[in-house]
Amino acid sequence: MSNTQECNSRNVPLPIQREIRQRCGFGCVICGMPLYEYEHMEEWAIVQRHVADEITLLCDQHHREKTAGLLPKDAVHKANSEPYNLKSGVSKPYNLHFSGKQAEMVIGGNGFTCEDKGYGTIMVPISVDGVPLIGFLLADGHLLLNLVIFDEFNVPVLHIKNNQLFYSVSPWDIQLIGTNLTFREAHRKILIEIEFQPPDKVVINRGRFLKNGVEILVRPTNILITNNSTLLSDCHAHNCHGGLIIGYHEKPIGGFMAIPNLPRYLGDRSEALRFEKESLERIEANKAMQPTAEGGGCFAIALDRLRSRSAYQGQ
Ligand SMILES: [Zn+2]
Repeated sequence: MSNTQECNSRNVPLPIQREIRQRCGFGCVICGMPLYEYEHMEEWAIVQRHVADEITLLCDQHHREKTAGLLPKDAVHKANSEPYNLKSGVSKPYNLHFSGKQAEMVIGGNGFTCEDKGYGTIMVPISVDGVPLIGFLLADGHLLLNLVIFDEFNVPVLHIKNNQLFYSVSPWDIQLIGTNLTFREAHRKILIEIEFQPPDKVVINRGRFLKNGVEILVRPTNILITNNSTLLSDCHAHNCHGGLIIGYHEKPIGGFMAIPNLPRYLGDRSEALRFEKESLERIEANKAMQPTAEGGGCFAIALDRLRSRSAYQGQ
């Protein structure tokens, strides 16, 4: 069913935009590029209305070609009927421009930084069962971002492989606006929200990392593992290869927090969410009393600042 709205503004209303994005596979219908504009296939001056079926997605290049008359209207209609990204179900790879000899990630307010040590340095803030879910590889002056997001059925839906971003077109909504990528599995349900800050920084303030029954929630000020109510807040790791290393890893990654055995597929998350709320209130209340730890070993700082269920109950 197509959304229709008559109005005198050229701005396409948001619900209609989303319907168009879904129909077009979240990319330019000609080339699949995730950076695009909403293009009225008939001249706006004539139609003066927003009908989802009459609007398509074109990247800057193809929009210019259409405006210049180099791209015939019929070709746009044809591509609109069989959008590039829907042919394979996966978007065309888009190259992110990361580079340099150092890297920084901020995940739920926790900081991970590292420098290129000259032998293929890796920094993996989150890894589950031998699968790095997010990390940077620093090699020969290249800085390569890697990320994989799984849905609840353990199916990978968003990939960044060595700076190449591509995604499944089946989730509910995907948008790359400016430097912000938002990936939703349903209305208001964010799988991940990433801010790319090239050349060398990535910030994740909201996210849901899922893999083999492990659920890691990222909020603006903390990371919560719901399986065992473990909360990380304000941790800082520098030159640690690994951050949160969960499950069995054939090639061990040294990191500041390893949890080899974690209960999986917990149906009831209410206890973990209650624990998160209580812990955050407690951290907030204790903030004035905590010494500021800067520098030194990340392991000690991480443990010092870590709030886990056992630590919390022991206090
Ligand atoms: Zn294009």
